[in-house]
Amino acid sequence: MIQTLKIIQPDDFHIHLRQQNYLKDTVRYAEKFKKILVMPNLTPPIVSIQQAKIYREEILFYSKNNSLEPYMTLYLNKSLSKQELFEFRDHNWLLGIKLYPSGVTTHSEYGIDKIEEYFSYFELMEKLNIPLLVHAEVNDDNIDFFDREKVFIDLYLSRIRNVFPELKIVLEHVSSKEGVEFVLESQNIAATITPHHLLLTRNDLFLPRLNPHHYCLPVLKTKEDRDFIAKVVLSGNPKFFAGTDSAPHPVYKKECSLSSAGIFTSPIAIELYITFFEKNRCLDKTVIENFLSVNGSKFYHLPINQTTITIVKEIQKIPESYPLGNDKVIPMWANRNLTWKVISN
Ligand SMILES: [Zn+2]
Repeated sequence: MIQTLKIIQPDDFHIHLRQQNYLKDTVRYAEKFKKILVMPNLTPPIVSIQQAKIYREEILFYSKNNSLEPYMTLYLNKSLSKQELFEFRDHNWLLGIKLYPSGVTTHSEYGIDKIEEYFSYFELMEKLNIPLLVHAEVNDDNIDFFDREKVFIDLYLSRIRNVFPELKIVLEHVSSKEGVEFVLESQNIAATITPHHLLLTRNDLFLPRLNPHHYCLPVLKTKEDRDFIAKVVLSGNPKFFAGTDSAPHPVYKKECSLSSAGIFTSPIAIELYITFFEKNRCLDKTVIENFLSVNGSKFYHLPINQTTITIVKEIQKIPESYPLGNDKVIPMWANRNLTWKVISN
């Protein structure tokens, strides 16, 4: 039985670090990873290169020995000037532009309503080779909540793909069978996958009782969806790579009525991914390493990390909570035991 895994240091291609007095903690929690791709949904959202640069400098300031490599995204909305797109490629730490449908998740009130109004952006991004990162869910009360991803793909994403076939797109935190199928059949489209969408199903939202710490967007789906996502990861398909979507909220915003969406996994995410591979009897170093440490960098044309980490079979208890500024954040599977531990990086 495998007791030790030594792999290229993993990257997290989808993380929320928040801002102000939360930032110092969230940066530290991300440090088992090498590259991180930081989402732009702050208040106000990051809509200019200058804002992204300042945010990135703050992140580097808190990173111990500058061990993290933060990469940044801009928030697609009307305040994003086209001039920023022309200058985008001058900064190798800028990786993509994030599309949030209006009102769909945390701080997405600045997001977009009518997708056609952004076609001129997509055209330019396609020409300038700037990836579009998509939160693929419709925000429509008439649509069944569990179908939001599927309907977004049918109504919008497939149209964007067909009109802009050369545009590189990442279907972020893919959560459904239909989402995976869409990626598989599309040429320039990849997807990030979170540890929670690999380990949980929508039953975990309700059993044994309603659990706000399992509430995220896109919402957890059925076992069939989860198993379909699992299959594509275990197959080693290079279009899929790790992005934790670790999204910390203070306890008081989770354990309340109208609980916020987001699952916090950052400090234990690598161990959670390994737990997924073990559960599926696939402790195959190449498959694991490609998913966690290679596929994402290849998609974004970034160098593969030179550093490695060692993960050993050892029990560690997930803390009840982690400090978050003056608040606390409760991680996924709080108080439960993990059987893997990252021991060095
Ligand atoms: Zn996210």
